[in-house]
Amino acid sequence: MRATEFLLATEKETPADAVVISHQLMLRSGMIRKLAAGLYTWMPLGLRTLRKVEAIVREEMNRAGAQEVLMPAVQPAELWEETGRWFQYGGELLRVKDRHNRDFCIGPTHEEVITDLARNQLSSYKQLPVNLYQIQTKFRDETRPRFGVMRAREFIMKDAYSFHADEASLQITYDKMHEAYSRIFTRLGLDFRPVLADTGSIGGALSHEFHVLASSGEDDIAFSNESDYAANVELAETVAPAGERPAATAELASIATPAMTSIEDVASFLKASPAQVLKAIVVRGEHTAEKAEGEPAPVVLFLRGDHQLNEIKAEKIAGVASPLQFASDAEIAAIGGVSGFVGPQGIQAKCYVDRSAAHMANFICGANAADTHLTGFNWERDGELPEVRDLRNVVAGDPSPCGKGTLDIKRGIEVGHIFQLGTKYSEAMKAKVLDENGKDRTLVMGCYGIGVSRVVASAIEQNHDDNGIIWPDAIAPFNIGIVPMNYHRSDVVKEATEKLYTELSAAGFDVYLDDRDKKTSPGVKFADMELMGLPHRIVISDRGLEAGNVEYKARRNGEAQDIPLADILDFLK
Ligand code: ATP
Ligand code: MG
Ligand code: MG
Ligand code: MG
Repeated sequence: MRATEFLLATEKETPADAVVISHQLMLRSGMIRKLAAGLYTWMPLGLRTLRKVEAIVREEMNRAGAQEVLMPAVQPAELWEETGRWFQYGGELLRVKDRHNRDFCIGPTHEEVITDLARNQLSSYKQLPVNLYQIQTKFRDETRPRFGVMRAREFIMKDAYSFHADEASLQITYDKMHEAYSRIFTRLGLDFRPVLADTGSIGGALSHEFHVLASSGEDDIAFSNESDYAANVELAETVAPAGERPAATAELASIATPAMTSIEDVASFLKASPAQVLKAIVVRGEHTAEKAEGEPAPVVLFLRGDHQLNEIKAEKIAGVASPLQFASDAEIAAIGGVSGFVGPQGIQAKCYVDRSAAHMANFICGANAADTHLTGFNWERDGELPEVRDLRNVVAGDPSPCGKGTLDIKRGIEVGHIFQLGTKYSEAMKAKVLDENGKDRTLVMGCYGIGVSRVVASAIEQNHDDNGIIWPDAIAPFNIGIVPMNYHRSDVVKEATEKLYTELSAAGFDVYLDDRDKKTSPGVKFADMELMGLPHRIVISDRGLEAGNVEYKARRNGEAQDIPLADILDFLK
């Protein structure tokens, strides 16, 4: 690419409304331009990097066995009504009507659309597992769009969705995606960490986020200083790995219990808003199968706001304060699932909920201690009491929930997020296949997102200096910049430049040739290239050529050095 044919849009001044460095540098180098709050045009320079990120993501997804699709951005409301998210999603969901007054949304994510596809296309267990992905524009009407493309309203996501006959198969694909994400972020040249994460409005039982470590990050990540344990502190609760669980029972036994008889009481106890506690069940101690030893004590169970309430039934227990929804024995039998919750004496009661892991995950049991809740505990599966932690209030130096070492807190930018969804969507939308015995089997799902456009900004947060961006080679818009001196007057320089430009391009490098005339000084050309972050710079001059040399400088750590023109291609390879 020649500068004279390129829509170069570098700027000297730092735009006043850009707070973080990546936003400033993306504007100044001419990668993006703002259209309106949270809406950006990708300029030719920026798009080159964006496409390179996409290409790496695509290669690794394909390598991991996923197949690419492309779904519509506009989605019918009916699908979102089926899962209940039309009502739950809130202001981030941009709702629109068509000319027939039918409701649609501009997709913030695609679980509903893909599950609709799965229920129509998949009929037999033999078609499983299958993993479908797309790289596509999403819209989320963020309350505070900021930091440029880092938190935009319209942005590009790679989203993948896998379908399975059972949890074991989901686990295999989940692990594969975890590995693919690690390869992707390694190839992108980023300093990143996978961390345990909350499942938010997407839902599900288990999730990991991938964070690029940077001081401008919006999330706090807690790291153990003695193990691989890392978690987003958004995580309200976490289950330590089996085998590393100290008995929580003794700790819980010593906790005094406040009186709780209303949702407001529960909310204030849990440091949540009443809206988050859609429903609470407050029971007294002497009630159920596993009867507590000693003094009966109150136990609280609360259901988070994104829970599908109508699926929940509680066993009828004595001494219950409002509001509690009871189920008949027949209903309980029909649901069939069972889960436990914890009281001051350990596991103390059972209540019946839907069997699916998705619902289990949203099923949070408070043990009457702020910061000590049990979640995602599946009585049948886990069989023992896991240690549980609320990370929201941790500070550096607190003991790590993994039992090893203490916690460091660092800032991170969430660039990827993988979820074990279980049957949350497939059940609501009746997505099933026939199993080997000809019986209906509800699909088990996973989903896997990468913020492709956010990755570009995060890479800049980690790779810049006072002069501009320092691109990792893999995603630089151009790998090499050539600055010829006297290009328009010296035939020798022009000839050598053209020859090198052709050779480097033929060798597969993306080359940027600053062929602007002498009205643009070499200093300005150098400054532009540094701002744009091109990893390698070559200066060609009459004087250098007389000695058979060109001048080479690496953007990252460069002292300029002379290299024989004849060797430069091999040097760069
Ligand atoms: P955040 O916590 O930053 O709001 P999220 O948890 O809502 O992100 P997910 O639903 O997990 O996002 O979406 C998958 C990925 O999409 C995120 O990991 C992130 O990289 C990217 N992403 C989400 N929201 C935005 C946004 N507003 N602008 C750019 N990228 C985004
Ligand atoms: Mg969000
Ligand atoms: Mg998040
Ligand atoms: Mg997320």
